[in-house]
Amino acid sequence: MTAAQPTPDRVSRSAPGQGAPVVIEARGVEKHFGSFHALRGVSLQVRQGEVVVVIGPSGSGKSTFIRTLNALDPHDAGTIAIDGLPLQGARNLDAVRREVGMVFQSFNLFPHLTVLDNITLAPTRVRRTGKAEAERRGLELLRRVGIEEQAHKYPAQLSGGQQQRVAIARALAMDPKIMLFDEPTSALDPEMIKEVLDVMKELARSGMTMLVVTHEMGFAREVADRILFFDQGNIVEDTTPEAFYTHPQHDRAKQFLSKIL
Ligand code: ADP
Ligand code: MG
Repeated sequence: MTAAQPTPDRVSRSAPGQGAPVVIEARGVEKHFGSFHALRGVSLQVRQGEVVVVIGPSGSGKSTFIRTLNALDPHDAGTIAIDGLPLQGARNLDAVRREVGMVFQSFNLFPHLTVLDNITLAPTRVRRTGKAEAERRGLELLRRVGIEEQAHKYPAQLSGGQQQRVAIARALAMDPKIMLFDEPTSALDPEMIKEVLDVMKELARSGMTMLVVTHEMGFAREVADRILFFDQGNIVEDTTPEAFYTHPQHDRAKQFLSKIL
């Protein structure tokens, strides 16, 4: 097999070219929580269409870093630009948040709203989309994540896997350019993990730029263009899944892999 052919078990999609525009640019990002130094000069470039998996030990700064990318947590120093828009204080905050969808471990759906209302809330309030159009698009997204028939139920009536798929549809309803996932399957029972990963694979195949904190190695191997390994507030490895899983360079990465493999 030549290098140009995709490995058969990989999700087939055209790899983002080196010429694709940089949509996430972080340089020397620092973050403190009181005296605790959570991010120590993190730099990263992600191009449009790339799927980047982020792994690393608990407490290494993975969540903090992706939260700085849509300013859920402001960074203290360094620069972040999303799709060319610099994030500094309140500058570009709304624009950046519209471009960056986020999915958390704990779903975070609004419990008092139906599934469909969870999805149409932001488009109607923030994007000023008409209700009928927002609902049409909401149902289309629910079909895409495979749960159109749950549209009129409340989150508590759904399984965890279904709730997470609603959370993904809700993020997509804002037409983001980038999707951030923070351990999206960690709170799910094993039988529900696959249905969420399948939705994420479809999203990857559609060309979405994705940054995914996950320890799901099957997903990383099949879908990721790059693996970032975090340790003590910085990226210590940035490589391909093949290289990472077969010969990690950093001692901390070797140690980590020996525990999860
Ligand atoms: P990870 O996602 O890699 O497990 P986090 O980014 O959540 O790690 O956390 C990195 C470190 O920063 C941890 O030691 C954590 O306790 C600390 N931290 C995260 N958020 C806060 C906060 N809001 N206040 C104080 N410390 C925090
Ligand atoms: Mg975390």
